[in-house]
Amino acid sequence: MKTTKKSEKLFHRAQKHIPGGVNSPVRAFKSVGINPIFIQRGKGAYLWDVDGNKYIDYVGSWGPMILGHAHPEILKAVQQAMKCGTSFGAPTELEVTMAELITKMVPSIEVIRMVNSGTEATMSAIRLARAYTGKDKIIKFEGCYHGHGDSFLIKAGSGAATFGVPDSPGVPKALAAETLNARYNDISSVRKLVSDFPSQIAAIIVEPVVGNMGCVPPKAGFLENLRELCTEQKIIFIMDEVMTGFRLAPGGAQELYHITPDLTTLGKIIGGGLPVGAYGGKKEIMQMVSPSGPMYQAGTLSGNPLAMAAGFALLSILSKNKSLYKILENRSALLEDGIRENMKSLNVRWTLNRVGSMFTLFFTDKPVTDFDAAKISDTSKFAAYFRSMLEQGIYLPPSQFEAAFLSASHTESDIEKTIRANKKALESVEK
Ligand SMILES: *Cc1c(COP(=O)(O)O)cnc(C)c1O
Repeated sequence: MKTTKKSEKLFHRAQKHIPGGVNSPVRAFKSVGINPIFIQRGKGAYLWDVDGNKYIDYVGSWGPMILGHAHPEILKAVQQAMKCGTSFGAPTELEVTMAELITKMVPSIEVIRMVNSGTEATMSAIRLARAYTGKDKIIKFEGCYHGHGDSFLIKAGSGAATFGVPDSPGVPKALAAETLNARYNDISSVRKLVSDFPSQIAAIIVEPVVGNMGCVPPKAGFLENLRELCTEQKIIFIMDEVMTGFRLAPGGAQELYHITPDLTTLGKIIGGGLPVGAYGGKKEIMQMVSPSGPMYQAGTLSGNPLAMAAGFALLSILSKNKSLYKILENRSALLEDGIRENMKSLNVRWTLNRVGSMFTLFFTDKPVTDFDAAKISDTSKFAAYFRSMLEQGIYLPPSQFEAAFLSASHTESDIEKTIRANKKALESVEK
């Protein structure tokens, strides 16, 4: 058994002064029945915890680390920027260069505003959609996560309930009622809401490939149908690419699936591991944003020079090395094949969903196409699987409902090691 004494000690200390001992809930490992490990450092595909254990990392800081940890060019860019000071609250050249690069990589984005997190990006995007359309309601999809803004912490509730019910205390009921939930991959559920609430929908927001109920790809035609419906009904179509942006292609899921949204939200990779988010899209809509228009949105640290330097360094590498995506696809396919081989030899049939370098092994033998299907998964089996993988030095997201990520620094030998660990873990789950 690995020793995790120092992590245990830190977690004990942390719980005294930090809610649940962590600064973001899923880090607490609650759903996998153990205490979290504390990280000391990362390099490439690897993490080391404070007890000196080494792990192959498939969390990648929940998405940003597409090139792996402590990438020398990103570190260098941040160090260079830091010499000139850490924040000015005034325009800098790098913000302009960054906007130029992003609008080139993601052509649907003509104008972009930088913020500090994915949550800020989605909150601002729906405010903008509401301001632009003069309507209040939004449609989201059950199981899609768009950060912790009040309007998004809503699920449909079971059965016929259409009005949103807050998922968290503290969300005003009146606001929750403005959020309608549809079923992912089910265009008829969206059409029904649109016809039940005629001319009241400001925006439809979707994760084009879901990562936040585990990895769930869109069915053929689903995103196209959403796009058409939005155009027809004058609804703003927002693709939340906080996770998929720059991950599935240099231009995100919208490039992969050839869909042009009205607005896009970005985060994670865009900051190269520093806190950044952004929202952007059609010029006509973005002109509404203050100070060019009346929709107010601001940020003391928005466009922060260190964050811009890190993000720009990472995006520059991604835009210049398109072969990286081919490498990510090939390595991810290798891992998928290995896991499928293992399941075959052990005669288990769990559902493995993968799009590019995002994947989830769901402990259900039914296809997972929406949140209801994902929820059928046997989470106690997942927890046992997770613990066995961790013990074998493989660091997976500590929840059945989170996507795992590969980075370009995962080698074939890392993947072979992961496949061997996967076999052992699957065996131990069945015992
Ligand atoms: C992570 C995530 C967010 C929230 O971003 P934060 O930076 O954690 O606030 C929003 N949308 C999607 C799709 C995400 O994956």
